[in-house]
Amino acid sequence: MDKVDSIVIVGGGTAGWLTAGVIAARHQGRRPHGFSVTLVESPNVPIIGVGEGTWPTLRSTLRKIGVSETDFFRECDAAFKQGARFNRWTTGEADEGYYHPLMLPQGFARLNLVPHWLENGDESFCDAVTPQGRICDQGLAPKTIATPEYEGLANYAYHLDAGKFSKFLTKHCVEKLGVRHVLADVSEVVQAPNGDVACVKTADGQAIDGDLFIDCTGFKALLIEEAMKVPFRDCNDVLFCDTALAVQVPYADPSDPVASHTISTAQSAGWIWDIGLPTRRGVGHVFSSSHVDADHAERELRDYIGPAARDLTVRRIPIRSGHRETFWKGNVVAVGLAAGFLEPLEASAIVLIELSAKMIAEQLPPNRDVMDVIARRFNDTTAYRWGRIIDFLKLHYTLTKRTDTDFWRDNTRAETIPDRLQGLMELWKYQTPWLHDEFDRAEEVFPAASYQYVLYGMGYRTDVPPGDVAAERELAQRVRRENDALTARLLAGLPGHRDLLSKISQHAMMPV
Ligand code: FAD
Repeated sequence: MDKVDSIVIVGGGTAGWLTAGVIAARHQGRRPHGFSVTLVESPNVPIIGVGEGTWPTLRSTLRKIGVSETDFFRECDAAFKQGARFNRWTTGEADEGYYHPLMLPQGFARLNLVPHWLENGDESFCDAVTPQGRICDQGLAPKTIATPEYEGLANYAYHLDAGKFSKFLTKHCVEKLGVRHVLADVSEVVQAPNGDVACVKTADGQAIDGDLFIDCTGFKALLIEEAMKVPFRDCNDVLFCDTALAVQVPYADPSDPVASHTISTAQSAGWIWDIGLPTRRGVGHVFSSSHVDADHAERELRDYIGPAARDLTVRRIPIRSGHRETFWKGNVVAVGLAAGFLEPLEASAIVLIELSAKMIAEQLPPNRDVMDVIARRFNDTTAYRWGRIIDFLKLHYTLTKRTDTDFWRDNTRAETIPDRLQGLMELWKYQTPWLHDEFDRAEEVFPAASYQYVLYGMGYRTDVPPGDVAAERELAQRVRRENDALTARLLAGLPGHRDLLSKISQHAMMPV
């Protein structure tokens, strides 16, 4: 039986290096017995260089691969991310918006709070069930300098500099995890008679053999598309955005506040992301070129940024929404942009990279014979996850009450809404997405709480009466009191976001 000992990753962006780190860390004990992870990266093709919003999962991923969180903050210009605020998505009014925070609603495991919250009407759902929106409003960090690395007083993820992150991971993977790094252009993919990839050849004449090849070549999809001919499944009929304009915005003053949440502001035919790092903001406009021309979209972006936009060069990135029909074929598996891309509305790409890398590392086939079984399982789970992300992103568009442009009107047309999502929206008229339903299965990407934050943040009404049982009402009131007390405690005790980032640049956090 052919053993699977030699893993070759092609591509050195966030996908390539995270996957290399996760596999190498998990299989470190096998290295003396000939197990190897090689990453081949072109010195000529730059990484995509965007992708700066993440999920809390990145904390456990970085921790598992042995990264110091303090080093990560310092070397990747990282900041804390406590969720996203969606402005102008519901009615388009300038002062309208809601949070999708990263903390679960208080008491979530004990009680379905939605009926009790709905009883009270006008209050913001987020503020009724979690302190995190108010923490963000006040520009506070989710922890103090005394909180150990990777732990938080409020849940958090990161905003990071994508270019610096890849370099940071390169160093860590090579020096600490023994990943072999080859800097060369892959110019040929050599296939065996059974269709498997036997080796990749580089422009400088190297032939790199492997048992399993991981395609992390970004939009190029060198192995999965060009060699293995796996088709791409478009979803532009559901998610219309097909172009991004990206720009890096310096702070007017180095002490300007750094937002600890992603700000997503809806526009006439798309939306603008705004991500705060300690040294600059990353801002971009994702839009549908069938609904608005690029000049208009750029004007909206510059208007959003204001006078600081005057001298900035805007980078244009065409995007293709969709994913591979299968992700693992033969001995090739695609991760990252090579596997697919969806507009970054909920920053769901890096988390999918983490989930894919984890699954590959955990299920790494011991030999070629079982690889097809594992590939089938990987494909089923991964296709399911892409489908659920498409549904969740579309939910933001489906709930809009905006009718001011064709873009918003088209987005609520039934034929653009996936059947499964339509069904769920029917169901949610009478019951709420909650803990003990399908959204909390292992292969789910977004938990039930995320659906609640978006649905009720956008004013959806679920016609479910609160439980009659007095004990339940009492519990609901207690949970509310707990949330109020926790909110007061955190607002009084958490430092300003920028202050904590400055402190981390000078004092190491306590290692876990
Ligand atoms: P890339 O970064 O493109 O890397 C490809 C690698 O392949 C490079 O190292 C290149 O040198 C190498 N390569 C290519 N050809 C060859 C060859 N012939 N030989 C050898 N090597 C080769 N994700 C999030 O999670 N959050 C976000 O907020 C977010 N925002 C985004 C905004 C935009 C506008 C876009 C387009 C994407 C965004 N993403 C986001 C997605 C995120 O950027 C990517 O998922 C992530 O950066 C991974 O990219 P990658 O490593 O797959 O590809």
